[in-house]
Amino acid sequence: GQKVVLITGCSSGIGLRIAVLLAKDEKRRYHVIATMRDLKKKEKLVEAAGDAYGKTLSLLTLDVCNDESVKQCINSVKDRHIDILINNAGIGLVGPVESFSMDEMKQVFETNFFGVIRMIKEVMPDMKKRKSGHIIVISSVMGLQGVVFNDVYAASKFAMEGFCESLAVQLLKFNVIMSMIEPGPVHTEFEMKMIADVSKKEYPGADPETVNYFKNVYLPSSVDIFETLGQTPDDIARCTKKVIEADSPRFRNLTNPLYTPIVALKYADETGGLSVHAFYHMLFNLGGLMHLSMKAMQCLTCGCLRSRSISPN
Ligand code: NAD
Repeated sequence: GQKVVLITGCSSGIGLRIAVLLAKDEKRRYHVIATMRDLKKKEKLVEAAGDAYGKTLSLLTLDVCNDESVKQCINSVKDRHIDILINNAGIGLVGPVESFSMDEMKQVFETNFFGVIRMIKEVMPDMKKRKSGHIIVISSVMGLQGVVFNDVYAASKFAMEGFCESLAVQLLKFNVIMSMIEPGPVHTEFEMKMIADVSKKEYPGADPETVNYFKNVYLPSSVDIFETLGQTPDDIARCTKKVIEADSPRFRNLTNPLYTPIVALKYADETGGLSVHAFYHMLFNLGGLMHLSMKAMQCLTCGCLRSRSISPN
């Protein structure tokens, strides 16, 4: 029969594209329950889903930050039966950490970390009982490697990686599979929100030198990296579908081969110095040439590392 897939954060970006791709599966193998905080934002998804809407795709309201909302949503699913849970909802936070309030930072953890745990707590017990299920988390390369000025966001994704790595062992005993998807930069509203945010923010509390490094050194190279290395939400959707359909899905799944050397660098040097210094030189000595140096690193490291990422095709 059809597999029931529940996805969080489907009003835009990666979540929307995963929902559409699975709902339009030629063999109609999935019934997709696409969820979002506010159903008033359903139009883009409904339009992209076309004929699938009302057939292999249905919508429900769900705010991953709200206990009641999560409970209500899962209770309204037939027999609470979810075969595949895709934790996609997430928010970013970029800038000098001195300028963020504790509340702003907690909101990132509320969404990216506790939001996922809230979903897993609600869905996992039924999967364990049925001895089947697949839990997927849209993590990030930043869940494996910290990136300057993304301190809190990276921390929230690291937290998620640690949580899931721990839980995956127990779940295997119950035939429940856990998979992390780790994209690099992806062209979505995420990126737009970041750029729009930066232009209106003042960064009070951060000294002028730091703000200068952020706005005039980090940001241009970050935009550059998005331009040159960015994947599309559809690429990530295809990678996710591949992971769902694999005979034995892997735990970690980098989607962009250009990032495998960066992750490898971290494990190649247990002192951590290599990655800290490599990033330092990329940021301060090469500036806008950051993407070029990443390409150089790709050449310097063993080519077989490429095969460690999953390709969208
Ligand atoms: P996006 O902003 O388009 O999508 C995120 C979605 O989550 C939005 O629809 C938003 O409304 C929703 N959301 C936020 N808070 C929510 C809540 N409390 N409850 C329910 N939904 C909520 O950005 P995206 O790039 O599609 O992001 C999806 C995931 O991919 C995130 O977890 C993000 O961390 C991850 N990711 C993104 C990138 C990137 O470069 N865009 C890279 C790596 C990982």
